Amino acid sequence: MRIILLILFSAIAFTSLSESGKKIKVVIDAGHGGDDYGNLAHSSNFLSEKEINLKIALFLGGYIEKYLQNVEVIYTRTKDVYPSLDERVQKANLSHADYFISIHCNHSDRKAVRGTETHVHSMHLSKSVAFAKEIEQQLSSRAGRKSRGVKDMKDLQHTLQVLKYTNMTSVLVECGFMSNLKEVRYLNTTYGQEIIASAIFRGFRSTIEKEFPQVAFRRKKEQAQEVSGSYSIQIMSSINPIDEKDPVFNSLKMSVIRTKLKTTKKYKYIYKVGSYATKKDAKLDLKKVRNRGYKDAFIVSN
Ligand SMILES: [Zn+2]
Repeated sequence: MRIILLILFSAIAFTSLSESGKKIKVVIDAGHGGDDYGNLAHSSNFLSEKEINLKIALFLGGYIEKYLQNVEVIYTRTKDVYPSLDERVQKANLSHADYFISIHCNHSDRKAVRGTETHVHSMHLSKSVAFAKEIEQQLSSRAGRKSRGVKDMKDLQHTLQVLKYTNMTSVLVECGFMSNLKEVRYLNTTYGQEIIASAIFRGFRSTIEKEFPQVAFRRKKEQAQEVSGSYSIQIMSSINPIDEKDPVFNSLKMSVIRTKLKTTKKYKYIYKVGSYATKKDAKLDLKKVRNRGYKDAFIVSN
């Protein structure tokens, strides 16, 4: 019965995509929720995994809805509740989704371990693998994360239920290690969450554009417009690294992100604030930043 139902569902999904509106569906699954916190925050200043997952998931869904057409976003949760793994799988299968993206954050007993991973059920599932590779590539180039690559059940040595039982192209993104202090700090900033979400967004966009070349996914009006996180304000640079939480930045009242440039120049460390979709948005804050003591601040594209 289950198999017949599955065949029936995929037949319906195929017909609706090829004949009518050419609308594809993506399920975004924020891992954990409710009583299931996922990986715990190791300081009261930090969010737990379930909260970070949800923030990234909502940013991701928001970008898809804002910048793409002919894509329907379905969430397994939009607030702090816990749908069971069965319920998540069922929602994806019953909605005849084309893609499933689960958002998680990682943990390791070795605190130095960092980077992103995108999981698929098996390396034999070529569509899922291609999608996962695209996401990892974007996380590396767009978000500047260390990519640990695409992994499957053999790497994990166990299966992930949401990947095994969902009928569509399915990936699970581990957005970084909460056990690594630097990475957990990044994951706790809106800037970090937005950049990660926009990298996943780009991986998704290029994947669907490759798979459905006949569908116009980009909204015309916003074709030239970039997603949030395209612009920041650079406030300064330095020879030696200064901590992002250093009191010297207190007057800004904004969180500071330090980046180390691959350069032979002496001033290797740059410090940025904010995350903006447009230059115009960035300009509004630039005034504020200059008034708060950073007279030489300027807008940079990320
Ligand atoms: Zn998790």
